[in-house]
Amino acid sequence: MECQRCPASSRELATVESRKERFCNECFVKFVNTKQRKQMMKDDFFRNLFKVIYPHDKEGSVAKILLPLSLSDSGSLVMFDIVHDLLLEQMKQHNNHTGFTIDILTIFSEESLSVIKERMECLVNEKMLQLNKVKNIFNVHFIDINEFFNSTSELSNLIIDDENFEIFSKLKLVNDSDRLTLREILSKYCLNNSSRADLISIIKNQLIKHFAYENGNDAIMWGHSMTKLSEVIISLVVKGKGSQIATFLDSDSFDTLGNKACKYKNIYPMKDLLSIEIESFLQIKDLAKFLINVEETNIKPNCMITKKSTPSLGQQKLVKNMTINEITTKYFQDIQNDYSNIISTVLRTADKLAQPVSNIAKPSQCQLCQSRIYTNPSNWINRITVTSPYPIETCEEEFLFKQWQESRLGKSHTHYVELLDKIKKDPTNNHDASDNDVKLCYGCLILLNTSIKDKNLMWPKIDTMESLVNKSNDNKELNQILNQFEIHSDGEE
Ligand SMILES: [Zn+2]
Ligand SMILES: [Zn+2]
Repeated sequence: MECQRCPASSRELATVESRKERFCNECFVKFVNTKQRKQMMKDDFFRNLFKVIYPHDKEGSVAKILLPLSLSDSGSLVMFDIVHDLLLEQMKQHNNHTGFTIDILTIFSEESLSVIKERMECLVNEKMLQLNKVKNIFNVHFIDINEFFNSTSELSNLIIDDENFEIFSKLKLVNDSDRLTLREILSKYCLNNSSRADLISIIKNQLIKHFAYENGNDAIMWGHSMTKLSEVIISLVVKGKGSQIATFLDSDSFDTLGNKACKYKNIYPMKDLLSIEIESFLQIKDLAKFLINVEETNIKPNCMITKKSTPSLGQQKLVKNMTINEITTKYFQDIQNDYSNIISTVLRTADKLAQPVSNIAKPSQCQLCQSRIYTNPSNWINRITVTSPYPIETCEEEFLFKQWQESRLGKSHTHYVELLDKIKKDPTNNHDASDNDVKLCYGCLILLNTSIKDKNLMWPKIDTMESLVNKSNDNKELNQILNQFEIHSDGEE
């Protein structure tokens, strides 16, 4: 079979088949490149950021773009690769000038540090040093995920009252001896993998956005494919966070962090590409070696004719062990070969959504996920739920109740009631029903109510976060790579 895009005179053998069309390697790479670049030029704002502007010495002519790179995510790596090639092209065409520079931000945890360091070193050597020899185009930053807890000076101790779903919170100053850690949150507070995955993703998002704000970036480039975006959209709906979809997809407005207006916009340059196309691109350009989960990546579904992957049954998880995100991921992976139009319909429909009209007096932000709150979730859920217990009438019921009280479940409930009482009665508790201070969005209220132990969670107050930029390069081991960078980026050799 021949490529359908090559000129008729010299048709190469087709290696990829997607959207009912056959491509050779070269034509497919071009196809993916074009899709991404089209998004990067989608309006005047982004065109001005990415293109080379003359004269070069004009202030602000070189944009600063933040590219969060996760070394376990094919999307962000492919996006990086395409951006890298674009920068290389600009250098050649514009006499060593580029329209923008890239801040690469990688968030790591203790456990993944050594392998991330190793892969990053390869990536730096193979893809970044060449460009940085001429000019400081790539800057690499690392942030320990625990900075989310280390950089904040206040915590909220949140608890849900299971009788009326009211949220109580108690403020706590943090001192160095009792810092929270991610491991502690995941093991002590979370009751299932879904809540673990949700909290990790909230933390990473907040770190990335705060970094962009402080670092003065003009845009954040997110590596979500069309498939990935559809997964997030459906997951948000399932988790009761549908009101966030419009804000999540918004690439027209400047972002806001709490009450702070940001000077950056969010962009999804890969939104026209399916994840099977991204996986195929990864294989063709031999990029999987940079990922920390190479083996897992190599068996992900792709649309290559020659190297079709077939995930072995043994590696498939049972549905009941999967997180909500994993279930939606699996759904979209299963349908994207034959029903890719469903995926684009999800995204196109979501793209048309506007932000909901708020019906609460005081604009509030969710203390957990930082999203805007449009309706008081406690009132709403209270209206549709019966929580008052049925009174004990017979001796048998009395006996069963005693038995339950003695059980592990009963004891844990007693512990919860004591905790609730303590937080409720605390004089520093800033709960004030009259000022309508809504603390959590509906989705996070449900998360806390059903997936967190004792419906109680300690969470950093994000507006007390100190500088992240200064802390980003603190790691000694990773500094070695960065130093290597600086030598080459000074241009003094
Ligand atoms: Zn071709
Ligand atoms: Zn929330």
